[in-house]
Amino acid sequence: MPVVNRVLIVGGGIAGMSLAIGLQRVGIVAEIVEIDPHWRVYGAGITITGPSLRAFERLGVLGRIEELGFCYDATSICDAGGNVIVASRVAGRPLGPTVPNGCGILRPVLHRILSEAVRTSGAAVRLGVGVAAVEERDGQAEIAFTDGSAGRYDLVVGADGIHSRLRELVFPGAPPPRFTGQGCWRAVAPRPSMVDGGRVYVGGPVKAGVTPVSREEMYLFLLQHVPDNPRMPKERWPELLSAQLQGFKGPLGAVRDSLGSASNVNYRPLEWLLLSPPWHRGRVLLIGDAAHATTPHLASGAGLAVEDALVLVELLCSDCTHAEALDGFTRRRFERCRMVVENSVRLGELEMSHAPAVEHAELQRTSMRALNAPI
Ligand SMILES: Cc1cc2nc3c(=O)[nH]c(=O)nc-3n(C[C@H](O)[C@H](O)[C@H](O)COP(=O)(O)OP(=O)(O)OC[C@H]3O[C@@H](n4cnc5c(N)ncnc54)[C@H](O)[C@@H]3O)c2cc1C
Repeated sequence: MPVVNRVLIVGGGIAGMSLAIGLQRVGIVAEIVEIDPHWRVYGAGITITGPSLRAFERLGVLGRIEELGFCYDATSICDAGGNVIVASRVAGRPLGPTVPNGCGILRPVLHRILSEAVRTSGAAVRLGVGVAAVEERDGQAEIAFTDGSAGRYDLVVGADGIHSRLRELVFPGAPPPRFTGQGCWRAVAPRPSMVDGGRVYVGGPVKAGVTPVSREEMYLFLLQHVPDNPRMPKERWPELLSAQLQGFKGPLGAVRDSLGSASNVNYRPLEWLLLSPPWHRGRVLLIGDAAHATTPHLASGAGLAVEDALVLVELLCSDCTHAEALDGFTRRRFERCRMVVENSVRLGELEMSHAPAVEHAELQRTSMRALNAPI
């Protein structure tokens, strides 16, 4: 018997949607409130690693991701001229016969897959609504919503991202997200046939890479060292990204030459956050970026969000009390999430200090090996 019957999920991103799907599947009533009245998602594409695909498989959406994204088993390291220096292909399927080793997908497409699964699950979704106040009474969380309505829940889960409002309300002294010194450019461009796996370009003035996201399109990312965190005016994003791509040849040079005012370009300063344990207070628990927000260096933030949801559902269905399930959640998740957050931030520091490539590669390898371990 689950230890809760009715759960409020604050935030309809990857963590919140995954949790709603998982809860409804085991008979726990899930309700999402999402602050954006249009339930939009920003950013171009997203890279999904093998361990993240394993989590999506357990959630039941891997088939749709394979259908609408671009899964691959090969990755390459290239020089700034676009020449392949190291090509590596993972032998077999180490995470299970049905789990590809990597994938790229457009963020809106992943959002559509998950939101359709949420609708099919029967979970209620209220858009344009947030949480104004939380109080605990008679063993339940009493919620006042921003639209003036109210509700009582056995558990409230904050999945409202790195700038979580629920974290502010329930963990008032928690340190805010910290800027890393890097900004991330992202763009979507036509996919040349040679881009049939993830590619990272090293040896140029900045680190950049491409990931196929469909038969027709690829996603480009570029990390810029911006110690003063300058404002990058939105109307100048294509021009500013183009300037960062000077000196690149091959697919990156082709993207640079094609950039114009109508291009799909996005910029975001990189921040991180790791909330001290435990990640719950009373009947409120934080998951996903609200508890542990990472930079994209290990491309694992989305996977961690899905894993959080899977582990929480498992614990809520186990033979333990409500308090034991929440305590057990942070215990199960903290070390793995800490490793990803800290190693991702460290990878960024190595890039900014132009550390030897071997140091970078070694940290990346050990982190990915740890992520391959069972959830
Ligand atoms: C530049 C960049 C690139 C990245 N690239 C990758 C990658 O390639 N691969 C990867 O795995 N990860 C990547 N990540 C990380 C990944 O995007 C996040 O870890 C993941 O989106 C976290 O999901 P989440 O649901 O916890 O939070 P979010 O995706 O932030 O979702 C939070 C949701 O809550 C809603 N919300 C916010 N406030 C409220 C409120 N007050 N009330 C109700 N709802 C609210 C938001 O509208 C949103 O829908 C990247 C991150 C960045 C910054």
